[in-house]
Amino acid sequence: MSAKFVLNALATAATLAAAVASAPAVAQQKFVTIGTGGVTGVYYAAGGAICRLVNKDRAKHGIRCSVESTGGSVFNVNTIKAGELDLGFTQSDVQFNAVKGIGQFKDAGAVGDLRAVFAVHPEPFTVVARKEANITKFEDFKGKRFNVGNPGSGTRSSMEEMLAAMGWKLSDFSLASELKADEHGPALCDGKVDGFFYGVGHPSANIQDPTTSCGAKLVSLTGPVVDKLVADKPYYAKVTIPAGLYPNNPQATNTYGVLATVVASSKTPADTVYAVTKAVFDNFDEFKKLHPALANLTPQSMVKDGLSAPLHEGAARYYKEKGWIQ
Ligand code: GLU
Repeated sequence: MSAKFVLNALATAATLAAAVASAPAVAQQKFVTIGTGGVTGVYYAAGGAICRLVNKDRAKHGIRCSVESTGGSVFNVNTIKAGELDLGFTQSDVQFNAVKGIGQFKDAGAVGDLRAVFAVHPEPFTVVARKEANITKFEDFKGKRFNVGNPGSGTRSSMEEMLAAMGWKLSDFSLASELKADEHGPALCDGKVDGFFYGVGHPSANIQDPTTSCGAKLVSLTGPVVDKLVADKPYYAKVTIPAGLYPNNPQATNTYGVLATVVASSKTPADTVYAVTKAVFDNFDEFKKLHPALANLTPQSMVKDGLSAPLHEGAARYYKEKGWIQ
């Protein structure tokens, strides 16, 4: 064997080694998309906050995170199931129904691949009435025009559970419109509907707009039907929207609601979910400051409350490292 040949062979091996060493970095360039809700809601803002923290460390993990505005909770679960979203926001009641194959998931069956990542902010069911409609309680909407939410939203799914518990049908309204959350405020202020229902974190730009621009009023959801729903369903809790949080609404609003949660599929790679989870909790103080609805979160409740699907293995890996779960 000539010296020249050996040298060439070494050079080739070195080139090959360099190529192999750089290959994982190229292969690791991954895109992760988080499904949210309407752009004026809190999911979109909270998703943006998560992605901002993930993207800060892009050079380390090679993941580029982006958010997608969607129809909401039920749409996100179904799209994650179809493999077209990596992660998404969903209400805790919708997560529960997806795991059990009930409610909106009765026909298609349980979503066995659904995995929980963490819980986020509370979402009180928020009923807003047109100022001139003279509404003091939900029952006053009988025979009026009411936005029940777009199909695919968690809002719509929770609205249907409440109406069923009240013994109401959509036909009890003179009009049951299905506008998306981004459209219900303008429709209210334009006098096209008398009220809407929205499961959302607070404060929300979406509620701020109609209360500011046309003096819309928040309406309490209380009474025996709500008491029974909260007693019967593990995912409901009573909650108060603080007095004066929104313009023209100096009163506290008593209602009930759910938690927002972030979910993924068991097919979403563990390293991806680990990187997203780590970005949020390693930068927790920053995360809480990125939207006022996130201000009161604690890791202790986020890793367990409202999660009915099994934890995603990537999230569980991080929580075990922290000693937050066994
Ligand atoms: N909870 C709402 C839904 O699933 C979305 C709220 C939001 O976008 O912040 O319909």
